[in-house]
Amino acid sequence: MKTAEKKLPRKTAVHRKAHTNKPSAASDAVVAPPQDETSEIVQPDLALTESVKIKPDENNVVIRMYNIGFGDCFLLLIPTSGGSKKVLIDCGVHSSGRNPHSSLKQVIENLMRDISDDEDENKKRIDLLIATHRHQDHVSGFADKAWKDVEVGEVWMPWTENFDDPEAVKILKKQSTAGKKLHDALTLMLSKPSFGFTPEKLAQIQTVKDFTENSLSNAKAMDTLHHGFRGGDDIQRRYLPDKDGKFKKIKSDLLPGVTVHILGPSRDEEVIRDMEPGANEQWLRLIGEMGNDLKVLNPFHADWSEAIEKADLSIFAPNPNAAKSLKADFEKINNLGDGAELNLATQLEKAVNGTSLMLMFQIEHAHLLFPGDAQNGTWKSVLQDEESRSLLFKTNFYKIGHHGSHNATPKEFVFDILQPKFKAMASVYPVAAWQFIPKAELMAALRERDGEVVRSDAALADFPDPEDFTRTAFFVETKVPIHPSGAADDTDTDE
Ligand SMILES: [Zn+2]
Ligand SMILES: [Zn+2]
Repeated sequence: MKTAEKKLPRKTAVHRKAHTNKPSAASDAVVAPPQDETSEIVQPDLALTESVKIKPDENNVVIRMYNIGFGDCFLLLIPTSGGSKKVLIDCGVHSSGRNPHSSLKQVIENLMRDISDDEDENKKRIDLLIATHRHQDHVSGFADKAWKDVEVGEVWMPWTENFDDPEAVKILKKQSTAGKKLHDALTLMLSKPSFGFTPEKLAQIQTVKDFTENSLSNAKAMDTLHHGFRGGDDIQRRYLPDKDGKFKKIKSDLLPGVTVHILGPSRDEEVIRDMEPGANEQWLRLIGEMGNDLKVLNPFHADWSEAIEKADLSIFAPNPNAAKSLKADFEKINNLGDGAELNLATQLEKAVNGTSLMLMFQIEHAHLLFPGDAQNGTWKSVLQDEESRSLLFKTNFYKIGHHGSHNATPKEFVFDILQPKFKAMASVYPVAAWQFIPKAELMAALRERDGEVVRSDAALADFPDPEDFTRTAFFVETKVPIHPSGAADDTDTDE
């Protein structure tokens, strides 16, 4: 039935980069317009829609990016002296960015097969499991019951997940309280038509509410990460980096020959400040109060600003001074129309992203950078630290930070640090409300820096997948050599 033009043969595809962005004829294979690049999406080869089990390679790290929707899920097979080791980094999808062609359920099924033993498919193991931060789009998959049978060597999470660390608890509490309050406020705003919002405004509030769901507690998934898997509490959990800075670099028996550099989140005051959601308590409290007594607030019905002038504030405060301060409070609500709720939601999103682990895996020549959703604060502290900075120069694989958002890959890193011939993967899915993810300029800059760049959801007609990437409907996969080119026993010598 599908008459979609097939992708060009892979060999020619590599050289088509410079073509114009003129859209080619639409076809029924086009799933959704890409938000960033004005190029048509090309479906994977139909022959490849059947998923296949990941295979280890003794000269390469195999990196499989599942097509999970708007979220992250990466499986690494690392060759070591102790055999091939499996590392999983995140497994989650945002509820507003699900991929109907590759559901979370399907991703988990494929993942379970990929981590199963070749001899005994009931035996499943991940040597190192990492949750970069507690956002839904990074952890929601861990709510699935399939994980209870999975043997896990170690679980790593950011230091902010350590419930024995008072500073971590403080941050977590602030974030979860802010998330819940904001979510409640938005629910209230949507549930009371007598608030008098226009349909457009209601749609905006709904979008903000969907966005906020990312930061809710994700309790079930987090419980798996903290206590679950086969072995439960006996599995070692590490919260990184540790307080004494002892584990800035981890060499573990779990992964012989592998060094993992823990670049973030640091405990610098500046970075910690990024983790605190801007508390706009007053705004949240007022929304709550309004919901409690709509009758009284009916004067606000038509137009916020006008209503504030007219409202009989003495109902709230019989004492004139208190009424005056309430009036000032209400003026703040004027911000409602200007997107105060969006500001709060954005601050909260950033705060949770600020806790994201940022890791560099070093396996001989291979340097794989996984920054999670780390934000400017974390990046800044990494770029300012001489040792970490020099490590960044060696990056030959880059998991594009925060799904290609504008605030998670500094220009300095792209233009001054990344060396040509790197590979980069962005885990994305088109969501109408987040038109600028991934950021077109960032994707273009990475390609200009001679990077081999792919996105998880689909290849683009004008930017076909480079030849050493494999794409199916369920994943994109590539390999990163652990020996410098020419040094391996059996790699091709034509470079
Ligand atoms: Zn994310
Ligand atoms: Zn995030």
